[in-house]
Amino acid sequence: MDNFLEVSNLSKSFSGFWLQNISFSLPKGYIMGLIGPNGSGKTTTIKLILNMLKRDNGEVKVVGFDNITDEKAAKANVGAVFDTNYFCDEWTVTQVEAAVSVFYKNWDKNKFSELLKRFHIAPTKKVKELSKGMQMKLMIACAFSYDAKLLILDEPTSGLDPVSRDELLKILSEYIEDGEHSVLFSTHITGDLERTADYITYINYGKLFFSGSKDEFTDMFRIVKGGRNELTFNLSEKLIGVRNFSTGFEALIRADDLKQFSHLDVEPATIDDIVVFTNQEGEHYE
Ligand code: ADP
Ligand code: MG
Repeated sequence: MDNFLEVSNLSKSFSGFWLQNISFSLPKGYIMGLIGPNGSGKTTTIKLILNMLKRDNGEVKVVGFDNITDEKAAKANVGAVFDTNYFCDEWTVTQVEAAVSVFYKNWDKNKFSELLKRFHIAPTKKVKELSKGMQMKLMIACAFSYDAKLLILDEPTSGLDPVSRDELLKILSEYIEDGEHSVLFSTHITGDLERTADYITYINYGKLFFSGSKDEFTDMFRIVKGGRNELTFNLSEKLIGVRNFSTGFEALIRADDLKQFSHLDVEPATIDDIVVFTNQEGEHYE
């Protein structure tokens, strides 16, 4: 099996929000970043994958298992990390292990205790005494101790200090090194993606904007700059999220659209540029 996650035509509507026919796949051995502005449907997508929300339409396969008809097998292969922990605050780390391990036949006690050492988590500590970064690591230690093939994290780096963020991203990179694991993590911190992600899925207000390799994503766009007199109607039509200055303009453009405007100043676009320009005020990219 080549894909550890396959999402096909996934849809869900709430009043005032429609997650619309989202399809993407994540190959085994890679890290995918799920991006999009707040309210775009990242958490909804993750909850639908984990079958924590009822979908309206579509299909999800987790490590080859249908997330509904084969829910048990799907759950045994996936680890989920949310930005608020799902353990009781009063539990000690040892009690967390006791509670979680019963759900997994292949729970590896030694591995869990090694991971606690590595992450500097004392087994006697109560969950509420752990920092946010520590709680995140505890959830990761659990997932690693039953050898979850696919790890899904919702905004794992938000609210972490730079050192903990760096550590977390390293842990994720190491986890996929053997080619037998995959990671999907949502983030609005594009720096995390530049460093860690192989693939990007960008959801913009419920619609899939892009899913593919990170390089393909940045190669699709350029930043163009020019003087006011260069901003012709033909060009304006092609620009995404124009910024006007007294002397000129700056905008995002699809690389394919650039060919007709070869006289303009062009720079490569970063992930940040793409996300920012496609979300300029009042402009929901269709
Ligand atoms: P993101 O994680 O990208 O910030 P979410 O998936 O949390 O976005 O939310 C997408 C949209 O769906 C938002 O407009 C949010 O208000 C709405 N939404 C999320 N969960 C529910 C729910 N349980 N009931 C109603 N609306 C919801
Ligand atoms: Mg969210």
